Amino acid sequence: MTGILRTPNFWIDGNWKAAGHRVAASCVPDGAPEASWHGWVIPGLVNAHSHAFQRAMAGLAEHRVVRAGDARDSFWSWRETMYTLAARLDPETLHAVAAQAYVEMLEAGYTQVCEFHYLHHAPDGKPYAPPSAMSAALIGAAREAGIGLTLLPTLYMSGGFDRRPLAARQQRFAHTLDRFLDLLAELRTLQGPGLNVGIALHSLRAVPPEALHALLQSGLAAQGPLHIHIAEQAAEVDDCLAATGQRPVAWLLDHAPLDARWCLVHATHMDAAETARLARSGAVVALCPSTEANLGDGLFPFGAYLDAGGRIAIGSDSNVSISPVEELRWLEYGQRLNQCARNLAAGAQQPHTGTRLVALALAGGRQAAGLDDTPMDAALLHLDAAHVLLAERRPEEVLDSWIFAGNAALVRDVCVGGRHLVRAGQHVQREAIARRYRKALARLRA
Ligand code: ZN
Repeated sequence: MTGILRTPNFWIDGNWKAAGHRVAASCVPDGAPEASWHGWVIPGLVNAHSHAFQRAMAGLAEHRVVRAGDARDSFWSWRETMYTLAARLDPETLHAVAAQAYVEMLEAGYTQVCEFHYLHHAPDGKPYAPPSAMSAALIGAAREAGIGLTLLPTLYMSGGFDRRPLAARQQRFAHTLDRFLDLLAELRTLQGPGLNVGIALHSLRAVPPEALHALLQSGLAAQGPLHIHIAEQAAEVDDCLAATGQRPVAWLLDHAPLDARWCLVHATHMDAAETARLARSGAVVALCPSTEANLGDGLFPFGAYLDAGGRIAIGSDSNVSISPVEELRWLEYGQRLNQCARNLAAGAQQPHTGTRLVALALAGGRQAAGLDDTPMDAALLHLDAAHVLLAERRPEEVLDSWIFAGNAALVRDVCVGGRHLVRAGQHVQREAIARRYRKALARLRA
């Protein structure tokens, strides 16, 4: 773990550093004393928001379903498909699906994933023995694939701002606060290299205010990242306004101590005051542009938020697509289409849009995952300098070309915590993990 990785091009703190063509790295493939990568080497990216099990339904909600009383297909019809799948998963099939998703993440350039995990119990709502069985399936899948895991066990208590009880098929998500704290305490004992345990609140509609406050006052909430889905859907904003008189982000800013430990997922629907206040809070927003586009959520106020100093991370969320390139490209293109202008994420300090996007996602992703104290070179990507898309690129053009030009996989090698997991673009266990995934899907779709 203390070998030397020789590389002519190491990107750190927003710049390429030659540094004598020698980078001291805690990550050298296979524990060798020395290795050489001749292309472009950058720290691994963080996937700040994932529900790994949803990889099994990627592409299965792309046909039109219009419910009575609903003029258009919407998020809520996608949720029906998701609930049908969620009702069939058990620890074994969850492990198989998550391992497949994590292999794909590593091949795409994500070396750490924040898993927002609410599928806790058996389909009838009874706890497994032990109650942490589904969490253990995710931990096992991450270890097998080799991706760093920030596990976010999720508190899910009610079915709406009116505190209606959870429906029958939501029972497997449900916890009392005490049972949730038991699970959290157990998972915290497992923390170590490759595993951080934070906390997720499913949403304001799923966690009543007094439970939110009691959770935040418990000793277990004193450490680790805190994530919450917020303001993803216009209907959620309307319901929050009706119940509290405030929009969701404004309510959270007024009722929770938002700071750098917090990660707000989506925050799509904010007014100007919420946008400025959230940017100043130090919290990070996990943007999931491919999922937000897929679900028709809306467009995040990216320009105003960046101008106010806001921090962002990216996530693959529903895993309909697993690609940091696609997330960052969509993030920029959504704004270009909306504003009829170009290079909107670029700034005065960093005029290269792809470079700025990668820098923002890396810093914000590490914050969201609780990795701020982890060395930048503990997880590394090696972009293929021999690929035709990177031919004759100057250093400042490399990341722009990676993010915007073509769809070819430029990630040649990935190394995490001393394990050389991706070689020549392929995960070392991709065949075995894919074979088991196919068998799991056959059971889930039977
Ligand atoms: Zn989500």
